[in-house]
Amino acid sequence: MATLEVPIPVVPIEPKVDKEHPMKCVEWHGKKSVRVNTARPSPLITHPGDAIIRVTSTSICGSDLHLFLGFMPGMKAGDIVGHEFMGVVHDVGDDVKGFGKGDRVVAAFDIACGDCFFCNKLKLFTCCDRTNPSKEEEKLYGDRTAGFFGYSHLTGGWPGGQAEYVRVPLADMNLLKVPEDMPDEKLLFLSDILPTAWHANELGEVGPGDNVAIWGAGPVGILSAHVANFRGAGNVFLIDEFDYRLEHAKSRMPFVKPINFKKEKVYDIIRKDLPYGPDVGIDAVGMHYAHSMLNRMEIAVGLETDTPEVLNEIIYTVRKGGRISIIGAYGGYVNHLNVGAFMEKSLTMRGGQTPCQSYWPKLLEMVKNGELDPTIVVTHEGSLEQSTHFYQIFNDKQDGCIKVVMHP
Ligand code: NAD
Ligand code: ZN
Repeated sequence: MATLEVPIPVVPIEPKVDKEHPMKCVEWHGKKSVRVNTARPSPLITHPGDAIIRVTSTSICGSDLHLFLGFMPGMKAGDIVGHEFMGVVHDVGDDVKGFGKGDRVVAAFDIACGDCFFCNKLKLFTCCDRTNPSKEEEKLYGDRTAGFFGYSHLTGGWPGGQAEYVRVPLADMNLLKVPEDMPDEKLLFLSDILPTAWHANELGEVGPGDNVAIWGAGPVGILSAHVANFRGAGNVFLIDEFDYRLEHAKSRMPFVKPINFKKEKVYDIIRKDLPYGPDVGIDAVGMHYAHSMLNRMEIAVGLETDTPEVLNEIIYTVRKGGRISIIGAYGGYVNHLNVGAFMEKSLTMRGGQTPCQSYWPKLLEMVKNGELDPTIVVTHEGSLEQSTHFYQIFNDKQDGCIKVVMHP
């Protein structure tokens, strides 16, 4: 088969750099250690399909916390982090057809080739076969995901977007041209969390009248509720332990029914309103929030890599024949998964990293005409130099932090 003859990755990962022009960027230096380097050489066009983006806005994602907390394997000291970014095209390679210098663009967090079976046939751009050479990931999953910006060497080791300049490989595939007359904040989240909220609803097949319960009132959970409402959902429950996040969501979206799982029993509250349980359960939490002594201990000693607590609560709570959407990121193994309840209740479970490019045309239109407003999650704005502080308050849930936007 032709695919086997294609070298992987199809483009070099390490960029050529310009030592004369140092830039600012956020580097990972170990567990709970990220800091700005102001003297990193800036990237140059390395392959004719590249574009160099001068970043105007970048944000911190819940996925960055998996790296920050040391849950994601394959990080190296000095890696540039960040995968949510937008800006202006600073330079383009000779093969780039759709973009020119000065264009305003958003990048996808996932790096796709556009040509392989998974990109071309299935439009599963996060499953691209040609942008991530990681043997470790292949060993762990039997396959490789696409490469992701700033998200460890397990996903290719691509330098990330919390930087003044970023090289975007295969630019025609991985950039979206955006209007000049809209503020960055409206557009930036097309790089990840808006398509992700949409994907969460797609995986759960949320449609008119469906009752939806969403675990996690972080930026992804909040936007998933926003999208569910747009798609005509009935009841929308939002579950977290941080009242400030639930209150923020409620203030922007009065239809939301908040539940604090530390104060109330999630199953009891939902089943009081919906005796059968919700049609759809969305996991917008992911791997690192272990609460029980047992799971914390098992993770600490390496008996499991991730916690099953949220998945078990969803399996338990959704109605028989219900649908589960896993949008929260998982890295490896969990113990004690209630697979019996999953099977006996005739449930469906789907998951995935979001193929942003698939949803771009539709979502850009919806943001332009005001049907969706991703800015409802933003609580903090500042400079890249404040990134150490921003990572800390985002992780520790301090100062009302939900979503941070940084300008290099
Ligand atoms: P976040 O960390 O800010 O939000 C997670 C929220 O879940 C927190 O508010 C936390 O208090 C809450 N939580 C923890 N344990 C819980 C429990 N047992 N029940 C209910 N809530 C609980 O992160 P985010 O930016 O909103 O991202 C959420 C998840 O989505 C992360 O795992 C991230 O990696 C993932 N993500 C996936 C994709 C994708 O393509 N699939 C894209 C972006 C983000
Ligand atoms: Zn993200």
